[in-house]
Amino acid sequence: MTAILEVEGLSSGYGPVPVLRDVTLSVPTGSITAVLGANGAGKTTLLRTLSGLLRPTGGRVRFDGADLRGVRVERLVRRGLAHVPEGRGIVAELTVEENLRLGGLWRRDRADARRAQDEVYQLFAPLARRRRHAGHQLSGGERQMLALGRALIARPKLLLLDEPSLGLAPRVTAQIMALLRQLCDSDGLTVLLVEQNVRSALSVADQGVVMSLGRVVMATPAAQLRDDATLRHAYLGF
Ligand code: ATP
Repeated sequence: MTAILEVEGLSSGYGPVPVLRDVTLSVPTGSITAVLGANGAGKTTLLRTLSGLLRPTGGRVRFDGADLRGVRVERLVRRGLAHVPEGRGIVAELTVEENLRLGGLWRRDRADARRAQDEVYQLFAPLARRRRHAGHQLSGGERQMLALGRALIARPKLLLLDEPSLGLAPRVTAQIMALLRQLCDSDGLTVLLVEQNVRSALSVADQGVVMSLGRVVMATPAAQLRDDATLRHAYLGF
C-alpha cells in the first residue's frame, strides 16, 4: 500500500525547547492512523509541525510524493493537506455559511467549492439548519462539525485532526468517527487523528501510533491495540 505521508527522523519544538525527537512514521493512503499517548507526549506538536505551523529542526516529511521542507502553509493546503486544530479555530463572529465559505476561499474551482459546501450540509444536518447562526451560537458538537466541514470543502487528501471528541457527547463523537471512516472508505481520504479518547479512536482506526516524551514508542495495527489487553496496558495504561 502506498503511503501518502512519510515522516523520517522528525524533530521540532518551541524555540530552544525540543519536543519531537526522531519521529518516524508512515501513514498509508486511505487509512486512519490514531496518534495516542499521555498529555504532553507531543501529539499536537506533531500535527503543528506537519501542517507547517512549526518549523522542523531535523528530519524529513514526504507528503504525496513531495518533500515538504520549506513549503509554506498556503501551498500545503493547495496540495491537499488540511489541519483542524484543537479548539477548532472557527470564527465565532461569522455565520456557519461564512465560515464554510472561508474554507473554499482560495479554491479556483468555484463550482466545486459550492458543491462541497452542499455536501457538508448533507453530512451535517444541524449545520444546514443553522447556516445563518453565528459560530458562537453553536453547541460544541456543531462547532466541531463546522471545523471539520470547513476543512472538507478544500477536498483534502490528508486531514490532520486534533482531539475532535473534546467536550462532545459520546453519541456525537461516534457520529464523527463513523463519518471519518466513511470518507476514507468511499473518497480515499487519509486521516491522522490525535485523540485522548483512545477507545473511540481505536474503534475506527487502521493503525495506532503511541507517543511518549516526544518519541514514537509503538506503531501497530489498531486491532492489535484494541484486542491485546497486555499491550494496551503497557503502552496506554488501561
Ligand atoms: P495534550 O494532549 O495535552 O495536548 P500532546 O501530546 O498534544 O498533549 P503537546 O501539546 O504537543 O502534547 O506538548 C508537548 C510538549 O510541548 C509539552 O511538554 C508542552 O508543555 C510543550 N509545549 C506545548 N506547546 C508549547 C508552546 N507553545 N511553547 C512551549 N512549549 C510548549
